[in-house]
Amino acid sequence: MGKGTPAQRGGKIVHVRCRRCGSHSYHRQKKVCASCGFGDTAHRRRFSWAKLR
Ligand SMILES: [Zn+2]
Repeated sequence: MGKGTPAQRGGKIVHVRCRRCGSHSYHRQKKVCASCGFGDTAHRRRFSWAKLR
């Protein structure tokens, strides 16, 4: 039983490269990019706390 965060992703590919933002955050099953919102929103998903650095 676990200490810390359990790694339950089983080695499956969950996120692939997003063709809109180029980030490796496009969810294959949900068809939504976690980074820019591609597939979910027509406009680009942005948050003030999500800063590029
Ligand atoms: Zn994206």
